[in-house]
Amino acid sequence: MAKFVPEPFRIKMVETIKMTTREEREQKIKEAKYNLFNLRGEDVYIDCLTDSGTNAMSAGQWSALMNGDEAYAGASSYYRLIDAAKDIFGYGYFQPVHQGRAAEKVLFPTFLCKGKYAISNMFFDTTRAHVEIAGARAIDCVVPEAADTSLRAPFKGNMDVERLEKLINELGAENVGLVVMTLTNNSAGGQPVSLKNMREVSAVCKKYNIPLDIDAARYAENAQFIKMREEECKDMSIREIVRAVFDCADMFTMSAKKDTIVNMGGLIGVKDGDSPLILKIKANCISFEGFYTYGGLNGRDLECLAVGLYEGLGEDYLKYRIGSMQYLADRLDEYGIPYQAPIGGHGLFLDAKKFYPNIPYYEFPGQVLSIELYKEAGIRGCDIGSYMMGNDPDTGKQIESINEFTRLAIPRRVYTQSHFDVMIEAIKNVWDRRAEITSGYEITWEPPILRHFQASLQPVKR
Ligand SMILES: *Cc1c(COP(=O)(O)O)cnc(C)c1O
Repeated sequence: MAKFVPEPFRIKMVETIKMTTREEREQKIKEAKYNLFNLRGEDVYIDCLTDSGTNAMSAGQWSALMNGDEAYAGASSYYRLIDAAKDIFGYGYFQPVHQGRAAEKVLFPTFLCKGKYAISNMFFDTTRAHVEIAGARAIDCVVPEAADTSLRAPFKGNMDVERLEKLINELGAENVGLVVMTLTNNSAGGQPVSLKNMREVSAVCKKYNIPLDIDAARYAENAQFIKMREEECKDMSIREIVRAVFDCADMFTMSAKKDTIVNMGGLIGVKDGDSPLILKIKANCISFEGFYTYGGLNGRDLECLAVGLYEGLGEDYLKYRIGSMQYLADRLDEYGIPYQAPIGGHGLFLDAKKFYPNIPYYEFPGQVLSIELYKEAGIRGCDIGSYMMGNDPDTGKQIESINEFTRLAIPRRVYTQSHFDVMIEAIKNVWDRRAEITSGYEITWEPPILRHFQASLQPVKR
């Protein structure tokens, strides 16, 4: 069984967290209308709602912050960021933006409009939303292994390349505005994509002249998986793997709040530094985000991002990061608790369908399990299933997700081995009592788009 990989860092500053009782938490979640996004952070003990922007910055980043140049245009911090990004990715143009969805908002309308399609191994929720906001339709095309949570395949995040080509032929290549490869595949459970699959997808895109975008939020964790699991890459450095992966694509959109280990930030990269696309990106950026040398970020944020790009690719750090996931997974295996296996890079995706087989998708098993974990130990996770998927934009009907997950996303460099042990014990307790839960939740109010962030719910009474 995997041991906890010791942290390659030590603690210099601590943050106190409040301890609450089960009675208090039952009251809090009721007041939050059974939506974990409505809870106050201070009422959470271990916050696994997301690994996005919840990372701990390093001493190196905090000291770089003091060098922030706040010039409106042409800040030296901007050039430091561009130099770091060029060094790592080898692309011709980079656009800082305030976070991942801003990258999508700036880039997607240049390729997508009504009547067009975007195809991905799997779209993340905000990414899907920005395809739809641009007027287009989003199609997921992940390999079928992703739906089988007990099947231990090495690259369950891959694109189904055969189906991709079939889809392109059915829809007409001219109607497919964009192909998006999400690394790692967040919605499939943080599952990695192989370099081989990237190369195959790239070849299909070239054949049909369709631009290929990498949704690069967790590209570093993906590179570590490639190093561990793809035979031909085992002797490559992480940096070499990253280059090989990004060489396959034409551009990337990145939420830097994940693998770049900052609290806020995003980046767009375009391989061809002379592409006419760059003028459109700058124009959209100036309208929505701010002048193109700051993109909605402070100069100090650009500094932290430049340092974080390198730290996120640290070989010891990535070994610890993926190793700590393996520690979690091995304990769950010991108790026979079902999750998307093998474990992904940024969190644990518990298979809520197997916890609660009698709760139908429209009563949101993933949401049920998230609420039980909060009540049990103050752990905040979230639903990645039918509750998150929402309603079909054409029919208004609830979509049935292929998986019903409760995601416990692990913030980077924040929690220790003892926090991991608290999580494991809580999950086991909830698993042991699973038969007591026989009904789920219903929505009493929802907004039309990205409803899971804001909706109100109540327990279904039978
Ligand atoms: C987080 C995330 C996004 C959106 O990024 P934000 O910084 O949250 O706006 C897009 N795609 C994937 C895969 C993500 O994980």
